Amino acid sequence: MTDLELKNRGTMFIISAPSGGGKSTVLKEAMKDIDNIEHSVSVTTRPIRGQEVDGIDYYFVSEEKFKEMLDDNQFYEYVNSDFGPKYGTPRKQVDELLKSGKDVVLDLDYPGVQQLRQLAGERVKAIALLPPSLRILRDRLVNRGTDSSEVIEKRMSMAEKRVKEAEFYDYVLINDDLNTVVEQLKAIILSTRVEKRNISNLGECIKCIVEDK
Ligand code: ADP
Ligand code: 5GP
Repeated sequence: MTDLELKNRGTMFIISAPSGGGKSTVLKEAMKDIDNIEHSVSVTTRPIRGQEVDGIDYYFVSEEKFKEMLDDNQFYEYVNSDFGPKYGTPRKQVDELLKSGKDVVLDLDYPGVQQLRQLAGERVKAIALLPPSLRILRDRLVNRGTDSSEVIEKRMSMAEKRVKEAEFYDYVLINDDLNTVVEQLKAIILSTRVEKRNISNLGECIKCIVEDK
């Protein structure tokens, strides 16, 4: 082995799925096997749920704090509905990760994808993770055992729209066999790293190769 190493410019991988689509499960498995990739932790005004941990699942903030961050231009993108909870992607955290050559995984909805594409264009890869069918999605939500039937119905009522939005994504993964989808996600991440425009030290590498005669 030589010391030759292609350096990664860092990509924002957005993963969207209907709730229960398997995002947590698939990401956990894929990220076990890949270095230099981290989750962006969003900021939200919604109350903390179940086993969630502040600073790991989200940064849980007050409405006032969210507004302050928004006014201070601290978000890459945000959902600022008047009724539901607000969500935002902290710009500083994402920029620092990208700057250190890491890939960043973001869990956003489709409006979030649109906003980030406008801001960061080629540095964004949007991946839609779909269940094999809505019937199977419902079975998985029921079997997961974390939501009441009322919450499950609410999630199901949003799922169809989520699935249909897949046509606007760069990649579409069907979460049928877990191993297959994990391997597909890993392949997307690893192949993106060797796209020419994502190699930050290409000139240097080429020089090393040709000089070592
Ligand atoms: P999300 O994070 O998108 O809400 P989860 O990762 O919690 O979804 O997955 C929902 C449920 O479906 C969990 O109980 C999980 O174990 C199960 N699940 C996820 N992927 C698969 C799969 N490929 N095959 C079978 N069950 C799955
Ligand atoms: P939950 O409250 O169930 O954790 O998330 C609800 C929805 O908000 C999910 O669809 C998730 O993708 C989306 N979401 C979470 N964080 C952000 C964010 O920072 N920006 C945007 N646009 N959506 C987010």
